[in-house]
Amino acid sequence: MLTIALIYPEILGTYGDGGNALVLVERARRRGIDADVMSVGIGDEMPDASIYLLGGGEDGPQRLGADLLRESTFVSRVRDGKYVLAVCAGLQLLGTSFAVEGDDEYEGLGLVRAVTRRGLTRAVGELLVRRDHDVLVGFENHGGRTELSAELEPFGVVERGRGNDGVVDGFRTSKIWATYAHGPVLAMNPWFADEILSTVLGRELEALGTVADDLYAERRAAVLHSAASSRRP
Ligand code: GLN
Repeated sequence: MLTIALIYPEILGTYGDGGNALVLVERARRRGIDADVMSVGIGDEMPDASIYLLGGGEDGPQRLGADLLRESTFVSRVRDGKYVLAVCAGLQLLGTSFAVEGDDEYEGLGLVRAVTRRGLTRAVGELLVRRDHDVLVGFENHGGRTELSAELEPFGVVERGRGNDGVVDGFRTSKIWATYAHGPVLAMNPWFADEILSTVLGRELEALGTVADDLYAERRAAVLHSAASSRRP
């Protein structure tokens, strides 16, 4: 049984990131895998789950989310090996510190060594990230710039938009996927949903031929084609 915990959707769900839970559960069920979403509200106990999803949020709610998670069993569960998908504010609060509201530095959960400072401008618009043979598309809307420590692997390389710093986006550890992309990101990037599912389940998955997969294939081809033509003299 695959259990997907959607954390504090009332404060970390401003950009529809709760849709990531629906995508994971649906793509699992279509393959005959028993899967369920547990919505974890403020005041609820942190349940045992296969994967925890953290979405984006505005500065105040993000700070509240960090405090609530600090007081919960979330950090120990992740340290014990549970999986996490984190988007934007979710990404920032997993790090060492993040700056919100007038440059105040706020302590993160310290699960990875990453620092988010206030950028001079807000990054608002489309985000395009290359990751091996895949492309990740989504949109971003954040004021932070994130600096990863040297040992922390980025999620991918930014082709359009800012991500962490205009060069790379997010980070990846053996248990955590973190990106600045909303979308919800998994609805727009089914390959990413399948990477998460197959890692969490520990096995290969058969391909699905949904409309989302077809649209992604078209998008990927268009992005790679335009990258190839811009490289031609
Ligand atoms: N509050 C954070 C920032 O502006 C994150 C925003 C978000 O999650 N989209 O940087």
